[in-house]
Amino acid sequence: NEIEIANPTRTRAIMETYGLNFKKSLGQNFLTDINVLHNIVDAAEISEEDDVIEVGPGIGALTEQLAKRAHQVMAFEIDERLIPVLKETLAPYDNITVVQQDILKTNLEQQIEAHFDGHHQLKLVANLPYYITTPIIMHLLESGIHFDAIVVMMQKEVAQRLTAEPGTKDYGSLSIAVQYYTDAKIAFIVPKTVFVPQPKIDSAVVRLTPQKPVKQPQDEQAFMQLVKGSFAHRRKSLWNNLLGIYGKDPATKERLEKVLAQVGIEKSIRAERLTISQFIDLSNGLIEND
Ligand code: SAM
Repeated sequence: NEIEIANPTRTRAIMETYGLNFKKSLGQNFLTDINVLHNIVDAAEISEEDDVIEVGPGIGALTEQLAKRAHQVMAFEIDERLIPVLKETLAPYDNITVVQQDILKTNLEQQIEAHFDGHHQLKLVANLPYYITTPIIMHLLESGIHFDAIVVMMQKEVAQRLTAEPGTKDYGSLSIAVQYYTDAKIAFIVPKTVFVPQPKIDSAVVRLTPQKPVKQPQDEQAFMQLVKGSFAHRRKSLWNNLLGIYGKDPATKERLEKVLAQVGIEKSIRAERLTISQFIDLSNGLIEND
């Protein structure tokens, strides 16, 4: 019966009532388009079977739409000024918990245990604060918590890097880090005009579906170090980047040549051509020949 929180007039009224300004330093660009919100909830396929974690509810625009469809919602908001606002805007819903904490610092496992019953699917849905998009995503993926889906909005450019395939200009260590854990796809593009205040660039909603890695690196840290180092100088060959990581002495060169030959990778290739599976082979080969 009430007008949605996302309604532009209501959003403005809420901000005025509480005398709030948007904090750029916290990435506060609020969504004011109900269709975009519905599309996000649809992309995450939210139903009664899902418990949902939201990062950064703001004044509750997305939280409200999630609560209408999900079993339970738990939202982490860092900005203490928004807590009384959320208490009021989300009062009509009895399936929302707002936690005033930094998503990067909270004990997520403990919060899940405390607020969810463990008999529902677990999804994460958010319009992310853009200044920490990558740290949040990596934090979630490395947490070891099993998410059935992660559906998050971010800057379009970042979305393109996350979802890039080998051989494209956007493909790099971030694509590999994310795609090592998930199947990553852009669900849809969101124009900058649907936010207040308006950001400078368009956004995209990305759906990450967690999956088992194609194969197992013997040492995940060594694997990620190899990937990062291989892209350190994008215009150099893989070979030159490898010398940068492991050293240029004759023994190292010999070992690198041997392993490359073993796993069937040409010396002159650039890192952007290698699939995740090839990076894992290379990493494992280097360990075996150490
Ligand atoms: N969900 C709202 C919407 O879609 O309109 C607001 C999204 S806004 C892009 C990002 C939100 O994340 C802001 O409310 C901001 O205060 C909050 N935020 C920023 N850093 C955070 C952090 N480290 N932990 C939790 N929330 C954070």
